Parts: sequence; C-alpha cells; structure tokens
Amino acid sequence: MLKIENLCVEIPGKEILKNVNLEVNAGETFVLFGPNGSGKTTLIMAIMGFSNYKVTSGRIIFKGEDITHLPVDERAKRGLGLMFQRPPTIKGVSLKQMVEVCSGKKDYAKEWVDQLNMESFLERDINYGFSGGEIKRSELLQLMAQGCDFVLLDEPESGVDLENICVMGKTINKLLQKDHHRRDRTKAGLIITHTGYILDYVEADRGCVLINGNFICRGNPRELLKDIHRSGYQECAVCRK
Ligand code: ADP
Ligand code: MG
Repeated sequence: MLKIENLCVEIPGKEILKNVNLEVNAGETFVLFGPNGSGKTTLIMAIMGFSNYKVTSGRIIFKGEDITHLPVDERAKRGLGLMFQRPPTIKGVSLKQMVEVCSGKKDYAKEWVDQLNMESFLERDINYGFSGGEIKRSELLQLMAQGCDFVLLDEPESGVDLENICVMGKTINKLLQKDHHRRDRTKAGLIITHTGYILDYVEADRGCVLINGNFICRGNPRELLKDIHRSGYQECAVCRK
C-alpha cells in the first residue's frame, strides 16, 4: 500500500533522512521507534508532502502511484492522513466545524465523539487551551472523521495520561480495523513512538528503529521494544541486527 524507495529528505540546509526504504501492506501496522531528533517526524511529514521537507532523491509510492511530488491535499484525497506530534491551535474554527469538513457531512460522527469523550470540546476553537491529552484526542477525532486508508500517527501517546492512552489505543485499533480478521483488514498505518507505551494497547505487525536518519534493527515491535528498554537507543546504533 505504501512503498518508500531510497528516500533522502532534507530540511533547509540539512540532510535528515538517508536512503530510507519501507513497505507497509494493506492491513498492516508498522511501528517506527527512534530517539529524539532522529528524523521520525521528518519521515512522516515527507510522506504527507509538507513543502519544508524536501525529497532530494528516492520515491514514495502509494497504492501503486508515485506521489513523491503531489501536493498535500492530493495525498489526503487519495487516503493518506496524519496525526501531528504537535498540532497547531486554530482560532476561529471550532472542532465541530473541522470534523464536519473532514467527514464531508453536516452531522458529526457521534459514536467517535463519545468514544473519545470529546462532546464538550466540539464548540471550542481547535486545540485552543486544550491539555496535551485533549489535543491528541482532538487529532484522532479529526483523523477518524476523514476516513483515511493509511494513517500516519506521530507519537500518539506523548503527553497523554494513562487512562486516555487506553481510550486512544482503542480508537486506533478501530481505525486500523483490528476488530476484523487479519485477512479482511484493508487499512494500514505507520505509528511513531519514542516510548512504546502505545503498544500496550495497539497490536503491531512489524517495526524498526530510526537512528540518525537510517533505518536499522528491523523486526517484531515487541522484541525491539524489549531491547530498547534493556539497552537504550545507543545500543541500537551499534548492534546492527
Ligand atoms: P524526531 O521526530 O525523530 O524527534 P525530527 O524529524 O523532528 O526528529 O527532527 C530531525 C532533526 O531535524 C532534528 O535535529 C531537528 O532539530 C531538525 N529539524 C527539524 N525541523 C527543523 C527545522 N524546521 N529547522 C531546523 N532543524 C529542524
Ligand atoms: Mg518527532
């Protein structure tokens, strides 16, 4: 569903990603671990097509189409969706209005609003004065409303208390059709996590570690996480599994 070939990405004046290769099939959940500053956010901003993140070589293929040079909105229309690590505050636009725009319907999806406990936030400006956990739930609500086929989740658990990580985990499982049999799942996702806490709630298929712009240590996400907890990311940089 998503294929990344020899991708190199730079932000003005600095090369961040070096020859990254990745394939995620329909129905799969891929987890990307990595220390702060390793280029995780850069990767998903480049996949989504934000212009600050310049692809200097390589290709991004989505559902068989080369989207490397498509604008963000065209990628969104094709079914790619992003949950920001640090989403902006948007004054003058209520969360309800945004959810309506995302879903293309006038009536917002009550089921998702209830699941994420967001009813009392709908009339408020997006993320204005929201706590860290409330911002993440608001992001997830907008993503659910979009009905994307492939979701890019940038540290969904960061700044979220334990109770709400559980709520978010359940929602992410729904988003990724974990309630369907594996062979019937059509959606897929790439989850970025620094701490790995979200994996207590979301079942993932494969993973790898990003260090200094390179993918290393590919494998089972739970095994990778065990190694990371035991030896830290410094060990990933040298072990080269
Ligand atoms: P991660 O998400 O893994 O923590 P990022 O992809 O956000 O890492 O950042 C990778 C590196 O690029 C970091 O050193 C970060 O400071 C740098 N960086 C990201 N965006 C910018 C920017 N707009 N200007 C300068 N440096 C940036
Ligand atoms: Mg980041």
